[in-house]
Amino acid sequence: MAILPIRLYGDPVLRRKSAPVAVVDDEIRRLAVDMVETMFENNGVGLAAAQVGLSLRLLVADATHRDGGDGPRVFINPEIIDAWDEWSFDEGCLSLPGLSADLMRPEGILLRYHDETGSECEEEFHQLWSRVLQHEIDHLDGRLFVDRMSPMRRALMERKLRELVKESKNVSL
Ligand SMILES: [Zn+2]
Repeated sequence: MAILPIRLYGDPVLRRKSAPVAVVDDEIRRLAVDMVETMFENNGVGLAAAQVGLSLRLLVADATHRDGGDGPRVFINPEIIDAWDEWSFDEGCLSLPGLSADLMRPEGILLRYHDETGSECEEEFHQLWSRVLQHEIDHLDGRLFVDRMSPMRRALMERKLRELVKESKNVSL
């Protein structure tokens, strides 16, 4: 197991559209284990492969502490096939440390995905599980939570964002 370095805002890999995982094999499962470790180490509730520099449609999530569940989960090639209701939640991101914003998103989603055994599943998610999955799926499409903020709120955050870009250029990986 390994803790992987997290890519920060300003890193171009965060803006790339990730490619589907072709085969769910041991290499993918190992990567998922490392991503779970990395997520826990950074006190996160979700992490997308792009955040550790890999443009793959793979993410890990764990909202068990708030909404129940059996601990960390792996989602491969996830696809939202339905969404309903709306709720606001203060959202942050491991790639934008120290920043957060109240965002409206659907409360519930129906998700199609492959699990770590490669089986195709369809499952409903709510509350924080749903929120984390929507946030991480945005990462797979090169989208960040700041893209969903109103232009005025985003302008207010611009200075902090510019500081983050400077920092990310100073980080050697
Ligand atoms: Zn994020």
